Amino acid sequence: MIHVTKAFLPKQKEYHNILKSAWDKHWITNRGALVLELEDKIKTTYKISNIIATTNGTLPLQIAIKALGLSGEIITTPFSYIATASTIAWENCKPVFVDIDSESFNIDVSKIEEKITNKTSAILATHVFGNPCEVDKIEVIAKKHNLKVIYDAAHCFGVNYKGKSIFNFGDVSTCSFHATKIFHTGEGGAMMTTDKDLYDKLYYHHNFGHNGPEDFHGIGINAKMSELQAAMGLAVFPYMDSIFSKRKLLYESYLSNLKSNSLLKFQKITENTDYNCAYFPVVFESEELVLKVIEQLNKEGIFPRRYFYPSLNTVGYLKGEQMPIAESISKRILCLPLFFDLTISEVNRISSIILKTIS
Ligand SMILES: *Cc1c(COP(=O)(O)O)cnc(C)c1O
Repeated sequence: MIHVTKAFLPKQKEYHNILKSAWDKHWITNRGALVLELEDKIKTTYKISNIIATTNGTLPLQIAIKALGLSGEIITTPFSYIATASTIAWENCKPVFVDIDSESFNIDVSKIEEKITNKTSAILATHVFGNPCEVDKIEVIAKKHNLKVIYDAAHCFGVNYKGKSIFNFGDVSTCSFHATKIFHTGEGGAMMTTDKDLYDKLYYHHNFGHNGPEDFHGIGINAKMSELQAAMGLAVFPYMDSIFSKRKLLYESYLSNLKSNSLLKFQKITENTDYNCAYFPVVFESEELVLKVIEQLNKEGIFPRRYFYPSLNTVGYLKGEQMPIAESISKRILCLPLFFDLTISEVNRISSIILKTIS
């Protein structure tokens, strides 16, 4: 069976060796040495200003909204994982959807300003499948209207834009280290900011507001990464270069197999990007074709996923307006299997099943 993704696992012995130091000290959470080491490795390797490792990739979004003091309306994308919009609602703000660009699948920057009202406090955009948003234009709009910017960079581990880590853009960027993501700690995530004062706020919030054992700086929640999670991250981290290059090879094989077929469309990667090949999405001409392809692939034990489906503006409790482009793409998109252990011959087999089914 081939699923859309398969978590990369280091050798069990490597994980145990790293874990041993925590075991010896009986220190398995509360920002132990392994969490600090993981933060430091990510920070120096990708030249990130400030990073806080967290227990997943959703709490950082909630904490960012809290730390920036957002209220009222937050402009966001309907084409993302549910966590992007549910977080806004969870923090008692209103998600205001702006349709996406049909090529990049990211929020359509030219449609943001018409949705800004006197209640708008921020823009929360996703770099979809690791493809950077038009960050320069978003920054100009945000400055002009005095809005904060949060990037859901859940898919962006290792992505650079104009030679800089994409995590250094916006007021806060968040990442997910979930087992299905390109770099993982089982469950896990991080929040990044270039602003030291904001870093302090995020830091307090993620650890109950503790300012020493008996003093509280303000309200907080628990979003700390544990040593068990950090040990997994430290064991996976040395493999990242081989993970990126293997994925690039597979990504390019899919593309060369499929690109000449006029019934298929592919995500346009933003210029000046070092892309991490986190996903291989294909947009079909119709939903009917997608369903047919899924059926044929399933028969062969291959399980792609409809990322992102449904369009978030159609989710009942989020009550958004119609978003023609996001709704159309989410009905017609399929993410094909892409992971370190996949082989080129499997990519070729998947590609030929698809081409045969749609011909
Ligand atoms: C995975 C994901 C999240 C949530 O991350 P978790 O680590 O699972 O909490 C948020 N946003 C996007 C776009 C994601 O893909």
